[in-house]
Amino acid sequence: MKVKITVSASVFAAIIAANLGVAHILKGYENVMNFAPVMFGAFVFGSRSWLADREWNIGAAACVLCVVLLYRPVRAAGWQPSFVALAVCAAAYVFAGTFIKYSRLLEKKEEELRSKKMELDRLTQTTLSNTLSQDDALEKEIRDIRSLYDASKDLIHSLTLKEMMDRVSEVLKKIIKNNFRINLDEVHFAIIFKKEFEYYIANSFGYDEEYLRENEKQFVNFVLKNATKNREPVYIRNAGGETAEGGPGLRMTRSIIYIPFHVEQKKLLWVLFITADRPDIFDDRQFDNIKVLSNQIAISLEKVHLYEEVDKMSVTDSLTGLYVHRFFQDKLENELKRMQRYGGTLALIMGDIDHFKNINDTYGHLAGDYILKTIAVILKNHTANLDTVARYGGEEFCVILPDYDKEKAHARAVKIRKEIEKYPFKFNDIQIKVTMSMGVAAFPGDAADRRALIEKADKALYKAKDEGRNRVIRSE
Ligand code: GH3
Ligand code: MG
Ligand code: MG
Repeated sequence: MKVKITVSASVFAAIIAANLGVAHILKGYENVMNFAPVMFGAFVFGSRSWLADREWNIGAAACVLCVVLLYRPVRAAGWQPSFVALAVCAAAYVFAGTFIKYSRLLEKKEEELRSKKMELDRLTQTTLSNTLSQDDALEKEIRDIRSLYDASKDLIHSLTLKEMMDRVSEVLKKIIKNNFRINLDEVHFAIIFKKEFEYYIANSFGYDEEYLRENEKQFVNFVLKNATKNREPVYIRNAGGETAEGGPGLRMTRSIIYIPFHVEQKKLLWVLFITADRPDIFDDRQFDNIKVLSNQIAISLEKVHLYEEVDKMSVTDSLTGLYVHRFFQDKLENELKRMQRYGGTLALIMGDIDHFKNINDTYGHLAGDYILKTIAVILKNHTANLDTVARYGGEEFCVILPDYDKEKAHARAVKIRKEIEKYPFKFNDIQIKVTMSMGVAAFPGDAADRRALIEKADKALYKAKDEGRNRVIRSE
């Protein structure tokens, strides 16, 4: 702008000077009033650069009008000064036109440069803020991964399934509350796990406990049906009413996550099932984090599962599937310690098959094995889950009955003895008669420790043998 004014002013001054000069040379100072061309020149230089074309055309027309109107006074002054002044104006016009064109070009370039610079600044700014937000996102991701790692590393140390499930539940709650910043009241989850041939709820959070206990099968079937439809993790962001078949506990459910886990490529071992009454409760990132965490859980779970399998193999007898001698001793020791600490009674039954050597000798060892296996099943069928049935030695068995006194244990032993006596053992189509003698002893009445208790039960057993076999004798 400054340049424009300066240039216009100087050209304007030059024209006046030229006009005055020419007028003076030719006719003296009398003709300085020949201002029409001066006005025209001034307008040309002063306005061309900042007036729009249309405005300039109007201005130029106004100037021409002035020239026409002033024709007479100008003529009176004589044609030479006017002619010279007009010639100077025309030269100035050409010069100014070029100059203005050039300065416009410069301005355009300057404008282009300025907008390029602005664009560059904007780009730098957005790149910078993108980089910053990427940095932020990266930092958040690292924080997430670290806390996922921190939370899940606890899992590695779990050795039993029960302990593991409790920790999984804790870790999930921690992640949902601390990392996802979601209120725990809004989220419910359950872990469905396979034990032997059945799936059960190994752990749950947020559901009505009583409802789950009473409707476990329905709930588990619902989860399995949906989780096995797809082998991959599934996140339903806004479920309709289809969850109603999972029972009233799921009627309000909107967000649902199923994460199934398979072992050895195909067997479904467990499912992590998460629900919330609010739709879209987890974002993609959180769902990814849950998947990462579930993988971590899967690794630990598989390890614990294998560990338990191996452990079970080492404590059970391969022929009968009953606990082995060493396990029986440990279990009895632990149970007695528990009784000593918290009070309570415990009974021990020891049984020995009558004339088993004869059975082996008469029908063969395979027949003997069949009888051992069948007796193990009878013993299992007539004891509770909390009782421990073990193979003490060759054809000797024992049963630990926690919370049993001697009388109750005696009654149970008599029941088992009768079951064996009446059982139709049949090997290779040959009926075999089998009976068992048993001794019963109880803590704390008969003995104060493991060794003494086994001795008492053993003594009672031998008394049963002495008295003619196929009977139950209580320790005295
Ligand atoms: P009793 O009524 O006095 O107990 O007589 P018994 O013949 O049962 O007594 P004994 O303890 O002498 O015999 C036990 C037999 O059990 C000896 C052994 O061959 C047999 N036995 C031990 N373990 C096994 C096994 O795993 N399979 C078979 N088939 N027989 C076994
Ligand atoms: Mg025997
Ligand atoms: Mg024996």
